[in-house]
Amino acid sequence: MGKHREIVEKQKNFFEKGITKNISFRMEMLKHLKKVILENEKLILKALKDDLNKPPFEAYATEIGIVLDEIDYVIKNLKNWTKPKKVKTPIFHFLSKSFIYPEPYGVVLIIAPWNYPFQLVLSPLIGAIAGGNCAIIKPSEYSSNTSKILSKIINENFKSDFITVIEGGSEVNKSLLEQKFDYIFFTGSVRVGKIVMEAASKHLTPITLELGGKSPCIVDEEANIDLAAKRITWGKFLNAGQTCVAPDYLLVHKNIKEGLIKNIIKYIKEFYGDDPRKSPDYPRIINKKHFIRLSKLLEDGEIVYGGEVDEDDLYLSPTIIDNIDWNFEIMKDEIFGPLLPVLEYKDLDEVINKVNGKPKPLALYFFSNNKEKEKKVLEDIPFGGGCINDTIVHVASSYLPFGGVGNSGMGSYHGKASFDTFTHYKSILKKSNMFDINLRYPPYRNKIKAL
Ligand code: NAD
Repeated sequence: MGKHREIVEKQKNFFEKGITKNISFRMEMLKHLKKVILENEKLILKALKDDLNKPPFEAYATEIGIVLDEIDYVIKNLKNWTKPKKVKTPIFHFLSKSFIYPEPYGVVLIIAPWNYPFQLVLSPLIGAIAGGNCAIIKPSEYSSNTSKILSKIINENFKSDFITVIEGGSEVNKSLLEQKFDYIFFTGSVRVGKIVMEAASKHLTPITLELGGKSPCIVDEEANIDLAAKRITWGKFLNAGQTCVAPDYLLVHKNIKEGLIKNIIKYIKEFYGDDPRKSPDYPRIINKKHFIRLSKLLEDGEIVYGGEVDEDDLYLSPTIIDNIDWNFEIMKDEIFGPLLPVLEYKDLDEVINKVNGKPKPLALYFFSNNKEKEKKVLEDIPFGGGCINDTIVHVASSYLPFGGVGNSGMGSYHGKASFDTFTHYKSILKKSNMFDINLRYPPYRNKIKAL
């Protein structure tokens, strides 16, 4: 596919003109992006409804609104971030000055998944534009309606040598990954993350990997049970569980397990009614492949609520599964659907050991009013990020860098972290010519004594 090489070349030529380095250009493009999103809001909401049956409120809150907020935040801070920063200089460089210059990488590739198909393309794009880069965007072929609308709003409103959307499946990905980019930003599964990293290594291209994994949700006996249940129910069944930071499984203290499950059931009914299939607020599974994968996970354990399936409608009801064993299929890979396995524990140390025996999670949620235990969990378990007494909401802050660690990814973004991700920091020491100390120059003979 020589076509892709040509597009990358075109963007490289455009980048070399230096236009994207101009701060006013970056600001203008971010404002333009905001304008075209606002103009196409209805079409975006429709595409998200068609792809995932996303309710408009949820789609606005988790896809469009979050992107618009991020654009505003970046515009407000961009001037400050792009200024060269003066830093201290060691005494032996007396009369010299030191600066750190932010500079763009060049042409970046953004590959996105299907679960938040709008937001996960545009949030990194905001960082790429803010950093002064050109970008090629590859949305997921699974969320084809959103992919189409992204292609329309970007390709009709921006010059393709600056930013462009390329639609397609794995052949397109493969061909794109053969090109030499200056940065690759990938969001998706651990499996494909490894493919991307391998491809990037051939050109020594720096990367960010925003991956997934099993994010535990720990509920301590000193938690506010009712509120915990409400926030867990929201976070787990948002987008029908197809959220990278969804609480994957529950680890609940045995003394409160029954009460917690009872309350989660109460909130499922309150949020989605007795028959969630009829709720306008309950999304569907993205496609048959994922539906079948999820249906198989219903075979182990005891379904205490839900478990209804309808393949034609890609409907899987909010489901709670008790009596789970760590060896069950559902505990092996990220669930990425509306199934909530429940495991009970007696002692927090036991939980910490268990979680630490698994790959480092993208998110972790801990519900407790006990500060000592909170401290212990934060200090003793490595994970990407998370919440105390809530789920998911840490993602929606431009002040908090978002990213994984270990198997859940590398690098982070959102707010200033996005700017940093798409920026190389060039360190410069400006030497004074007023005088020169001879000590460092050869011959070194006898100089050791002078040190
Ligand atoms: P995926 O890895 O299957 O696909 C992601 C992207 O990679 C898509 O654009 C797809 O077209 C592309 N792709 C697929 N196969 C490829 C290949 N062989 N070579 C190159 N590119 C390829 O992931 P998905 O199913 O779209 O998304 C679900 C996964 O993404 C979950 O694991 C979830 O946790 C993760 N995720 C992570 C975050 C995060 O921010 N960390 C956010 C959302 C989703």
